[in-house]
Amino acid sequence: MRILFKNAHVLRRDAGGRWNALENAYLGTDGRYIGYIGTEAPKGSWDLVKDMSGKLLMPGLVNAHGHAAMTLLRGVGSGLPLQRWLEEAIFPIEAKMAPQDIIAGTRVAVMEMLASGTTLCSDMYDFPWDAVRVFEEAGMKVNSGRVLLCFDPDMKAEDCERLKECEQFVKDFTGRGGEGLKDGAEGLVKADIVLHSEYLTTENTVRALADIAKKYDCAVQLHVSETEKEHEECKERHEGLTPAAYLERCGLLDTPTYMAHCVWATDEDLDIMKNKGASLVHNPTSNMKLGSGFAPVAKALEKGVNVALGTDGCASNNNLNMFEEMHLAALLQKGLYRDPTLVTADQILDMATVNGAKALGRPDTGELREGMRADVIAVDMSKPHMRPAVDIPSLLVYSAQASDVTMTMVDGKILYENNAYTTIDPVKAEEEFKAAVARLLA
Ligand SMILES: [Zn+2]
Repeated sequence: MRILFKNAHVLRRDAGGRWNALENAYLGTDGRYIGYIGTEAPKGSWDLVKDMSGKLLMPGLVNAHGHAAMTLLRGVGSGLPLQRWLEEAIFPIEAKMAPQDIIAGTRVAVMEMLASGTTLCSDMYDFPWDAVRVFEEAGMKVNSGRVLLCFDPDMKAEDCERLKECEQFVKDFTGRGGEGLKDGAEGLVKADIVLHSEYLTTENTVRALADIAKKYDCAVQLHVSETEKEHEECKERHEGLTPAAYLERCGLLDTPTYMAHCVWATDEDLDIMKNKGASLVHNPTSNMKLGSGFAPVAKALEKGVNVALGTDGCASNNNLNMFEEMHLAALLQKGLYRDPTLVTADQILDMATVNGAKALGRPDTGELREGMRADVIAVDMSKPHMRPAVDIPSLLVYSAQASDVTMTMVDGKILYENNAYTTIDPVKAEEEFKAAVARLLA
């Protein structure tokens, strides 16, 4: 399908990292890709022409850390400290979850993300085979994998069933591509190597997982140094090594790794991440809600670490709103270091788009350029809080609301427009969600 948007403002990133809007422009899609961007009407025939007067087209947002089906636990245990929150509120409910719950929770997460302009996310949760089917049916992009958990320090890698499942997921989803994709391009689902964290795994299994990541050349996702307690206990367990240093010793950072949180990452940890090409995924809302602290984002950026942005799960956020994360991430470092020049609006837009795409190993998305995947959202610029439109990056970071998103397109297909979904039945989704919540929270 070929769609032409006309009379749009098109947000592009220049080679110097500045985001600028091309005014009164055209953007044309060709199948799953962007075929044209310019101010002159393109030649050729179109299946659909859409007038985007008053709208800004920008790249779809990348939510680089989350647990989609946790929409089922939205707000559960609010106000408890992290360990009690997990043990008293979250784990008992998660223990009851079955595939149909995961499907229902993930579907609502996809709806929330599409309505707020997210086109690609990272997912880490139980029953990933079922969860990714929901993403595929909806047409949204996801990086996912079976999560490694292991508590027995004597467990040999060859005896660990979870490790086998991690590899099986990668085998099932690597290289699936899809119709109309260029050679080597990823399909909607990209398999990651996933481990929960240093503290919920063992050295034997982490080393074996690192070998699997190398074998299949997968991105690796995990939680790192989220709390001070976890960071310090890692040092006690592993001869004074911080989580980042320990993971490096295990060989896990030899493939591209994206690390959620890094709240307690030291200067040396950031150096390791820079040298190894690992990404930091900043989750400002979750870190504040759980009282974990503030990640050293300004320092990481200064050192040249790739910094992406995520919401984390709905139980510790309580939403999947990337505009809110952008807003908080921009304000937080300025207040923390009493320096308004830290972390510019351009850098925040990078974090929510190109940097996220880079972290997730998807170099063909995150920017609007000819030849890139057509992952495009429209933002309504005619609202009172979006005027005057003199500094677009600053408007998007400090003024825009998730509800200003009027359209979300993934791979050239419009999935959401003006409060309606093209691939999801919201009535059925709501019924399934209600049933799952009733079962779990009964
Ligand atoms: Zn998380």
